[in-house]
Parts: sequence; structure tokens; C-alpha cells
Amino acid sequence: MDHLFGMTERALIEFARGYGAAAGGARAFAKTLLARAAMREADGGSAASRVLLEAAAREIDEALPRAEAIADPDGTVRFAIHLADGAIVETVLIEQRASTNLRKRDRFTVCVSSQVGCARGCVFCETGRLGFVRNLAAWEIVAQFAIAARHLRARDASLSPSNLVFMGMGEPLDNLEAVLGAIGVLREPRGFAVGERRITVSTVGIVPRMDELYARTRANLAVSLHALEEKSRIALLPIARKFSLAQLRAAIARAPRTVLLQWTLIAGQNDSDAQAEQLAEFCRGLDVRVNLIPLNPGPIAAQRPPTLEQCRAFQKRLADAGVRALLRLPHGQEIGGACGQLAGARRATEQRR
Ligand code: SF4
Repeated sequence: MDHLFGMTERALIEFARGYGAAAGGARAFAKTLLARAAMREADGGSAASRVLLEAAAREIDEALPRAEAIADPDGTVRFAIHLADGAIVETVLIEQRASTNLRKRDRFTVCVSSQVGCARGCVFCETGRLGFVRNLAAWEIVAQFAIAARHLRARDASLSPSNLVFMGMGEPLDNLEAVLGAIGVLREPRGFAVGERRITVSTVGIVPRMDELYARTRANLAVSLHALEEKSRIALLPIARKFSLAQLRAAIARAPRTVLLQWTLIAGQNDSDAQAEQLAEFCRGLDVRVNLIPLNPGPIAAQRPPTLEQCRAFQKRLADAGVRALLRLPHGQEIGGACGQLAGARRATEQRR
């Protein structure tokens, strides 16, 4: 059975054509179903035929998985999404209040998972401890966005998420086809209408797939860097054994648009003045911005974030060297919804105990 949340306008038109619909009728049908998925009014034009809608009711699954929501006092909401095979992934709806995002309106971003678990084993990440379980289908990724959007809509009918980041559970470039499939559905102007420039795909540095991503979508790329000596990078990110920093830097240099470099600040490990200088040197000549993320409590109790003062000093060193760097204060830390804290099924098991 097809799933509505995995169908682009083209796929819906083909479905209708399969029932003998004329071009106009097929387009009207697609428009109705895309609007329904995104919970918006279909704008004008002819209505979808009853025969097609009945066929869709039989052959296109529109159900969303069951989700439990838990809210952080800072406005962040973490969803545990229960998939049909019993797997659980987590999705986070992040609220950036107008006062903190330099815009006139609150901004909402959905952080989606692309896999159940993850094979990459980054040491500061709860998802990495789960190991790889399976890839998500494109519709399971889109469904996470739909669940978050409906949650927001129930709170205030005028609100909808404007941005999407693939920074939840899993390495998105290890499930590239489904990630691109989900982007294809989410960007549909008559559906969710999330423009690719408002989508960011994150990677720990799967170098060969970065070029493929550049070629196949206009979505932004974020790269987890965290350290600039091969040995210390390998200690944090096992993938660094496979692709050297030189290879990674060359792939970043080939990007057709600004790349976001993620630097998780860990006290005593990568927060020194010398490391800020080294990072500034790495950035020289690249079209990049840096996101500094103070470490969130994770699997290794001994690893701690630097003080806010130290984080600011690191940011200032970068700024003084001409590097654009934002210090990201944590969202959803109290509910385990911040970067590196998504634990899926293990959280459910621990909560039952
Ligand atoms: S940080 Fe990302 S790539 Fe690394 S283990 Fe966690 S989910 Fe996987």
C-alpha cells in the first residue's frame, strides 16, 4: 500500500492516471491530497472526483504513527514516535522565540530522525549507543514533520514549522535515498511547502555522499567537525578513521553553498584558545559558518560542557579571526531532546524500569 506521506505531486498524479483520470482531474486529485496531508485548504480549482477519492481511501494509507509528546519549559517538544514494527524514533520541535532569533516572529524548526539507531557510534551521542537497527522510509520521515506540525497547529491554528533539520537519530547520508525522497515530498508547494533552502541535512562526514547531496538537492549541509587533530577526531567520531580531515575539507570546499560546521564544545577537550585558532585556520578560504554547541549531558559522565564564559571566549576568538560563529544555547535539555540526547527505544525501556 502507498503511504500519503511518501507521495509527491507526481506520484499522486500517476496514481490518478492509473484510474483513467484526465490530466486536469489527476492534478485536482493530487492537489486535494497534498493539501490534506499538510492540513491546509486546497486553493481553488476543480474538486477531486469521488471515484478517485474512494480509490485513495482503499489504496493510500493516510494514518500517522502513534506519538507521545513531552514538553520542556523552554518550549521544546520531544515526540516518541511508535512505528508499526515496534521501533521508536524521536523527533524534536524547537521553538526559537522572537526575542532570541532576531526576527519579528517566533520560529519553529522540526528536527527529524532518519534511522532507527545509528551505525556511526560517535562517543557523545546516545543514539550511537543503540547501534544500527534500520533505515526509515521516506514517509516515516515526512510523518515526523506532520506530527510536529499538527501538534503546533492544535496549539495555535496560525502556527506552522518553517524549518527542518535532519539532526535527529541516525546519519542521514547513510539513508540518502529516503532523505531525498522525504525532501521531495516536504518541498511540494501545494503540500508542506518547506523550501529546500530551509532544510539542513547533517553529516559526520560521509565524504563520497556529500557530492551526491550537492548534486541532488539545494538543501543545506551541516558537517560535524568537533576536533581538528586526526587522533582526537577519531576518538570522538569513529568515521574519521575512514575519511581524513583533508578529504573532508576538500568535500566542504566543493559545496555549492555555505556549509555549517558543527563544533560541540567539550571542556578540556576542544575548547582552548589554540583549538579556536586551529578552527579559524581550517575555515580560511571556505564558505562556512560555525555553530558552537556546548555539550549536552550524554553517555560519558566525565565529559562536560565548558563554562558559558569559556564558550563565549572561544566564539570571540573565531569572530576576531573573521569566522562567523553562533553559540547555540541548548533546547530541550531537561526532556532529553537536545543534540546527542535522542535515545528512542532505550529511553522507553529505562522509563518502564
Ligand atoms: S551524532 Fe549522528 S552520526 Fe553520530 S552516532 Fe549520533 S546519530 Fe549517529
